[in-house]
This record gives sequence, C-alpha cells and structure tokens, in this order.
Amino acid sequence: MIYFIVGDIMKIICDTHVHSENSFDGESSVSDICNSAVEKGINTVTITDHMEAPEIRFGDKSIYGNAKKMIGKSVSDVEETASKFDGKVKLLKGMELGEPMHFPKLTKKALEISDFDFILASVHNLKDTEDFYYLEYTEENIGSLLKSYFEELLDTALNADFDSLAHLTYPLRYIYERTDIKPDLESYGEIIDAIFKALINREKSLEINTSGLFKPIKTTLPDINLVRRFKELGGKYVTIGSDAHNCKDLGKGVEKGIEIAKICGFDHYTIYEKREPKLIEIWY
Ligand SMILES: [Zn+2]
Ligand SMILES: [Zn+2]
Repeated sequence: MIYFIVGDIMKIICDTHVHSENSFDGESSVSDICNSAVEKGINTVTITDHMEAPEIRFGDKSIYGNAKKMIGKSVSDVEETASKFDGKVKLLKGMELGEPMHFPKLTKKALEISDFDFILASVHNLKDTEDFYYLEYTEENIGSLLKSYFEELLDTALNADFDSLAHLTYPLRYIYERTDIKPDLESYGEIIDAIFKALINREKSLEINTSGLFKPIKTTLPDINLVRRFKELGGKYVTIGSDAHNCKDLGKGVEKGIEIAKICGFDHYTIYEKREPKLIEIWY
C-alpha cells in the first residue's frame, strides 16, 4: 500500500540517510541526532548505520567493527529513542547494506536482524577490492573501475533486497577529490539506463545523496542530469539523504536535494516505513 502525505503543501524535511555512532565512521548518539533534528526542524530521520554484509565473516576482527553487534546496537538505540521523541521527530529504523550481492547468504542474515523500516543498498567496493575511498586513481584505471562499479550496481539493482539505491556515482566523490580527471559518464549511459530501468521495474527508489554538494565534486550523487534521466525513463520514487556522520551534517543539503527532485519533475519524494513507500509532497 502507498500512503500519500499531503496537506497545505507543508514544508516536510526528512533525512533518510544518517549514520550514528554505531557506524565505524559515525560520531553522534541517536539521541543527540534527534535533539539536533528538533533544533533544525527536521521531521523524520532514518538511521542507516553501515552493514557491510561481507564483513560478517570477520566478526570482531573486521576493520569496520563487528557488523552484527553494531547494527544490533543501532536497532536497539533507535527503538529506545523513538518513543522519547514521539510527536517531535519521527525516528525510523534503517540500514545501509553494503555490497549485498557479494555474499547473498550473509546479506540474508543481515536483513533478518530486525524488522527494518528502510534498506539502502550501496556498493562501496568491488568484490575483493578495498572501498573506493582507499583506491589510487590514474588515467589508466578509472575507466575500468567505473565500468566494474556500474556492472555491480546493475546486478544489485536487478537482484538485491533493498528499497533505495544509495549514492549512485559514489567513486566520483573520490576521483574529483584526488585527481584532475573529470570522467565523462556518457560512455556509461547505456548501463546507467539499465540500472534505472531495473529500479523502475522493481518499484525501487533512487537516492539523491546530498553529501557531494559539500565535496569538490559539488553535485548530488547522482547529479541532477542523472536524476532527470531517471524521471524521463519513468522513475517514480526518490529518497533524499544527507549521509551525515554527525549532528552537524544532519539534514545538510536535503532541501537542495528536494529542490532537485522537483526540478526533475518529481512532485513527491519518498520515505519508507516498514519497507513501504510513503510519498511526501514537495512544497515548492
Ligand atoms: Zn555509503
Ligand atoms: Zn552512508
């Protein structure tokens, strides 16, 4: 069932990609994030701590911390905190599921940890490779890395269990930061279209991740041209997320992300509760 939240075009701001201290790279408690949401006038926060499913293999020895324990703590923190902020902030229970297609059995285990409201699917690293954050980029390797990245994303979009595809074009965040090379995505047009069509056919969302606005790339991930293309092909659902790792960044750029959705022809953006899409009318 799809719910429509409409009214007098209220300004409703929802941030559906937020990390707490229960992510290896997160800094703030769930409670502090909620206090910050009240201060900033953010209506809904979905906590999406990292679950790099392949890391479950390593238990306490994972460099990212014990994946199952950390996501278990994230879930219980959200459950305990939600009622304290009842009527002030809607707090939802999500997970950023990394590399869901690398070890499908581990991914299944991760999804069984709780009755999540929302699952974001990410590809942070290619199979048997480090996170794009750690890679060195050269003229020679960028093309093949991006090709493999889009191929893995297509597999994810076609086959994984998730609600929204996170930060499409993630490697560009680091390529722009560390090199003078500005990859031309035109040669990947066909595979990006295939990713969008898979999302559309499976009624999944595309995430507009606003973190890139504040990095050298200075665009959302994906950028406005790709969001427009998703809409042209028949895209129905977009989620908006700051990818904040602390209170300071909570909601950062979300209004801009909503504006981009509107410019691209979306009248609503989407949040998920119990893994069902709820449409939020855009007030512009
Ligand atoms: Zn991510
Ligand atoms: Zn994230």
